[in-house]
Amino acid sequence: MSALRVAVIGSGPSGSYCAQLLTEESESPVEVDVFERLPAPFGLVRYGVAPDHPRVKSITASFAEVFEETPGVRFLGNVQVGSDITLDELRANYDVVVFASGAQVDRNLGIPGEELRGVHGVREFVSWYQGHPDSASDAFALNGNRAVIIGVGNVALDAARMLAHTPEALRATDVPEHIVDTFAASTYREIVVIGRRGPAFAKFTNKEFIELLEVDSCDVIIDPADLELDAQQQAHADADPAARRLLATFAKAAERGVLGRDTAIRFLFDRTPVEFIANGPALTLRLAKTSDPNVTETLETELVLRSVGYRGAAIDGLPFDAASGTIAHLDSRVADGGSVLHGVYVAGWIKRGPTGVVGTNRRCASETVTSILEDLTAQGWTSTATAAADVDELLRSRGVRVVDWAAWRALEQAEYAAGEAVGREPVKLHDRAEMLRAAGVAAG
Ligand SMILES: Cc1cc2nc3c(=O)[nH]c(=O)nc-3n(C[C@H](O)[C@H](O)[C@H](O)COP(=O)(O)OP(=O)(O)OC[C@H]3O[C@@H](n4cnc5c(N)ncnc54)[C@H](O)[C@@H]3O)c2cc1C
Repeated sequence: MSALRVAVIGSGPSGSYCAQLLTEESESPVEVDVFERLPAPFGLVRYGVAPDHPRVKSITASFAEVFEETPGVRFLGNVQVGSDITLDELRANYDVVVFASGAQVDRNLGIPGEELRGVHGVREFVSWYQGHPDSASDAFALNGNRAVIIGVGNVALDAARMLAHTPEALRATDVPEHIVDTFAASTYREIVVIGRRGPAFAKFTNKEFIELLEVDSCDVIIDPADLELDAQQQAHADADPAARRLLATFAKAAERGVLGRDTAIRFLFDRTPVEFIANGPALTLRLAKTSDPNVTETLETELVLRSVGYRGAAIDGLPFDAASGTIAHLDSRVADGGSVLHGVYVAGWIKRGPTGVVGTNRRCASETVTSILEDLTAQGWTSTATAAADVDELLRSRGVRVVDWAAWRALEQAEYAAGEAVGREPVKLHDRAEMLRAAGVAAG
C-alpha cells in the first residue's frame, strides 16, 4: 500500500503535535510534510514564549525529535502557503491538508487614535525582541519616560518584565545582541499596566505575577485601595481559588510597597482606554473608570502596547469566522456552514482561537488526528497524492529556497556560533537573509 500523504501548514506546537500523532496513531503508512513560512521551526515557542522562560521553550527538543527521527516526516521551512504554493495545489498533491497556522494578528481596542505613532500591538513588540525575521531590527527605540501596556494577561506581564530586566538578565537568554543593546539604552523608568476590570479579574496567573515580583531591578506598585473589592469582584473571588491566590499575592506586593528600584511597574485597575491624542513626540492616553465612566484621567506616554488578544488571519479559499478570527470547522474538518471541505482540517489557535498553553495544543491536535483517521478509514485508505519529489520540483521551479531539517540544523549551529562570539549561549539570528545564508540556501 502506498503511503497516505499529509501536508501540515505551520510548525508550531499544533503542527508539530499533528505530525507526531499522525505517524504514531495511523495503522497504515503516512508521510507528513510540515510547511513553515519562516526559515526556523516551532512557531510561538520560538517567537512568542518569553526568552526568560527556557523551561517552556525546552519543549522544542521533543518537537525536534519528530522532525529528525520520525520516518516520513519532513520540515519544509521558508515556504509560504498561499503564495509559494496554493491551497488548490496542496489539495491536488496531498490526501490530507491540515492548517495549524496560528493566530498572527493583534486585536484592536477600537478607539480613536489607535493608528498614531507609538501605539503598537504587543505581538509587534514581542516579535521584535524575539528577533522574528518579519520585524525590523530597529522597530523599537525605547527612548521615552513612561510605557503603557493595556491588558492584564500573561503576555502583558512578559512585555513588562522584558522592559524591566537588566541587560545582564537579557544576556542570559537568546535575545539578539542588538536588541539587548536597545533594552540596555532604554530610558523607560515607569511601566503602567492597565486592567479594564478590578484586580480580582486579572487574567495573568499567580505564577507569572510572582515571577514579576522576583525581578530585582523593578518595583511592582499595587494601590492597596484597589484591593478593597466591590460585590462583583468579591463574588468572583469567592468562587475562584485562582483569583483568591492572585489577590493574596497582590496584597503582599502592596505591603512590600516602593523599594526605590530602577524601574517601576505600576498597575492601574478599573480603567477603560477612551482615546489616544497626539502630543508632540508623545501621546496622551485618556482613560475612564470602568465602574464610573464620568471619572476620567490622562496619562502621558511615548509607547503603548495593546495586549488584548490575537486573531487568526483569513486564508484564501477557506471559510473564515471573522468574529472569532478562526477557520470554521466541524470536529476539526473545515466546513462552510454544514458543508465539509473534503480532506482539509484545522488544529491549534487557528481552529480554537488564542487560548491555552502549549500542551493544550496536544489535546487539540489529537482531536484533529482522530477526525483525519476516521475519514481515511471510511475512505478505505486509498491515496491519490503525488510523490514528494513532485512537490519539491514545483517549489524548485518557482525559486523557493526550502529550508529542510538539515538546513535548519545548520542555521541553529550559526546561532550557537553567534552566541559564542559574544560569550553567550546561542542567540537568534534576526535578519531573514542572514538566516538563509546560515541555512546554506541563500541565492547565488
Ligand atoms: C507572546 C506569547 C507568549 C506565550 N507564552 C507562553 C508560555 O509561556 N507558555 C505556554 O504554555 N504558552 C505560551 N504561549 C501560547 C503558545 O505559544 C500557543 O499555545 C501555541 O504556540 C499555539 O500553537 P499553534 O501551533 O496553534 O500556533 P503557532 O505557534 O503560532 O504556530 C503557527 C505556525 O504557522 C506558521 N504559518 C502561519 N501561516 C503560514 C503559512 N501561510 N504558510 C506556512 N506557515 C505558516 C507560523 O509561522 C507559525 O510558525 C504564548 C503565546 C504568545 C503569543
